[in-house]
Amino acid sequence: MSSTFSFQCLACCSQTKARVGVFSTPHGIVETPRFMPVGTLANVKTLTPAQLKETGAQMVLSNTYHLHLQPGEKIVAGGGGLHKFMGWNGPMLTDSGGFQVFSLSEMRKITEDGVIFRSPHDGQIINLTPERSIEIQNTLGADVIMAFDECPPYPATRQEVQAATARTYRWLQRCIAAHQRSDQALFGIVQGGVYLDLRSQAAVALAELDLPGYAIGGVSVGEPPELIASIVQATAPLLPPDKPRYLMGVGTYREMAIAIASGVDLFDCVIPTRWARHGTAMVKGDRWNLKNAKFREDFTPLDETCACYTCQNFTRAYISHLVRSQEILAYTLLSIHNISELIRFTQKIREAILGDRFTKEFAHWLTPGEMG
Ligand SMILES: [Zn+2]
Repeated sequence: MSSTFSFQCLACCSQTKARVGVFSTPHGIVETPRFMPVGTLANVKTLTPAQLKETGAQMVLSNTYHLHLQPGEKIVAGGGGLHKFMGWNGPMLTDSGGFQVFSLSEMRKITEDGVIFRSPHDGQIINLTPERSIEIQNTLGADVIMAFDECPPYPATRQEVQAATARTYRWLQRCIAAHQRSDQALFGIVQGGVYLDLRSQAAVALAELDLPGYAIGGVSVGEPPELIASIVQATAPLLPPDKPRYLMGVGTYREMAIAIASGVDLFDCVIPTRWARHGTAMVKGDRWNLKNAKFREDFTPLDETCACYTCQNFTRAYISHLVRSQEILAYTLLSIHNISELIRFTQKIREAILGDRFTKEFAHWLTPGEMG
């Protein structure tokens, strides 16, 4: 691993594969396990970086595909790179753009070289290859960058997934060759769909490349939650123990708890901010629609045990009023609370692992059930 990055394991659970670690990057540390908020277009929607920091966020994501289309990586670089451009001085991660491009099923063509698609902004033809994705991510300048991978849809045949997994490995080698910056860590991504033997083979092959970190991708694409758990259980333990492990696109309480028990360290998901924009608060594992009549005259905080700015200063009645009036402040206050809630959930798991109380304190979240 490059000297600017390190992963130190501080404690392991005696009952599961859960672990507590510190991932060091050029822009600071990430205490794992940890939830990472998503700032698609170089901002976490409706939050200033100062508000974001107060939620307990350490590493923040941004999307290569979206930033390439608007404003373009040259403008981000002209603004001093992603950190300076968006005013976030902490660790950052960009994805490869692959996931978004593969979601454009109507408008794209996949070849061995890469993916050709039409920009939904202006109709321009864009050719995204492993080399181009890495070049864009090198220009954006996040601390962690992701390999360009082929994310097969769900459902897909074994043959289709096998071909995509093999191509993902060839593309990873091209990404490694194209990567130019030693102050950025390139993570490889394990694919393999819901076929556990393909997942295991991919994990073993990637582990041999001695990358600074590893991700499990292609989950949360429509498959049932119990399949996500099996995929993670079959994959995470095969990845090198001295490197961070990141489960992409997963951020519900139960899925995170189960993945942490398999040895996963990092998570991201748009759920807390997306739900905030729908007027939904995440409170102690439940979802509340603030438009519900019962909140109109409820003058208590969302969660009286929550230390976030929203819960310390506002009532359910006030937030309900803002949501009903479609005031932007509603989305800000709910995003602050929802992100704080998910980060706190992973922090509490961290403390429980340190005290070896994880399976006892989080038993409720470690069994299959409601998504939560
Ligand atoms: Zn709160």
